[in-house]
Amino acid sequence: MPSYAQAGAILSIDLAALVDNWRRLGSGAAVVKANAYGLGIEPVARALATAGCRTFFVAHIHEALILRQWLAEPTIFVLHGPPPGTEPEFTAARLIPVLSTLDQVAAWRAHAAGQNLGLLDAALQLDTGMTRLGLSPADIETLGSEPWRLEGVRLVLVMSHLACADDPTHVMNEAQYRAFATARDCLPPAPASLAASSGIFLGPQWWFDMVRPGAALYGVNPTPGEPNPMAQVVRLQGKIIQVRNVDSPQTVGYGATHRVAGRGRVATVAVGYADGYPRSLSNRGSGFLGTVRVPLVGRVSMDLVTFDVSAVPETLARPGGMIDLIGPLNPVDAVAALAGTIGYEILTSLGQRYHRRYNFEAG
Ligand SMILES: *Cc1c(COP(=O)(O)O)cnc(C)c1O
Repeated sequence: MPSYAQAGAILSIDLAALVDNWRRLGSGAAVVKANAYGLGIEPVARALATAGCRTFFVAHIHEALILRQWLAEPTIFVLHGPPPGTEPEFTAARLIPVLSTLDQVAAWRAHAAGQNLGLLDAALQLDTGMTRLGLSPADIETLGSEPWRLEGVRLVLVMSHLACADDPTHVMNEAQYRAFATARDCLPPAPASLAASSGIFLGPQWWFDMVRPGAALYGVNPTPGEPNPMAQVVRLQGKIIQVRNVDSPQTVGYGATHRVAGRGRVATVAVGYADGYPRSLSNRGSGFLGTVRVPLVGRVSMDLVTFDVSAVPETLARPGGMIDLIGPLNPVDAVAALAGTIGYEILTSLGQRYHRRYNFEAG
């Protein structure tokens, strides 16, 4: 990782805010897939485990094996289940697969039978209407009517995922809720989980035995359209490396898409789309220098981005000064909206060229 002095931007991750968010979300499981949504799986999972989190979800077995290196005790669920042939790696690292197809169920049962280890833990993912990952209603009926298919397997969780939980008025929510109840009735009794970040805010009826928040832990608003109940976790401060004083009409950046009409000042920051700062923010985004909004002007290029700092005193807008690319006044959801995407994508795109600072102090 670049040092503070070397880096073009400083990414600060407030682990105390993260832990506060986890508590606010019910102190259940934590989803730390995709390198903890780009924030760094090791520091994030350690902070949560220290706070008492005992259950983690990742997408891939490879992520689970990395997590297991640091956390010996907690339960780790692997959402994608075992790719064929990796079943022994699951048992060796005490990972719990989330099984989504009858083939995966069969492979896990065969593994359990071959192991002589007694019952092997597994979770089942049920497709209740998202048509993405999970056992179909027909698969669930098959499992219900042919119980031998789960011989040797201890069901520790049945789960499903909501497609539209960020819209509490959406008819899909109730439909999926009912489909989940119907599916559970077919299966042996097991603890249940339905709600991710937004589902938690649909109300206690949706919590079942375990909630699975990801994005909200990291400060993304789980209730779009309403004030964000979560604390901000991420701040990204880009360093100004040059300020151009313009005194005659000039264009800025690739494609000459922005024109400075007369006098003005343009600050260049050493961050670009190669760092996950979206090119779609070209001529649309903004940063903050202190509390002053500075419009992003011209195109975002690979390693650089330019801001109009004419409104900021020269003593502030100078090389070495910092512009909040994500900060208290332009939080991750606001940046995402301007970029035409969602906070999830902004976080998981955060680049590797930042100096990362993990801040245990609140505030
Ligand atoms: C990613 C994921 C989550 C977490 O979702 P958020 O919206 O980030 O809280 C929970 N469950 C499943 C199955 C997922 O894929």
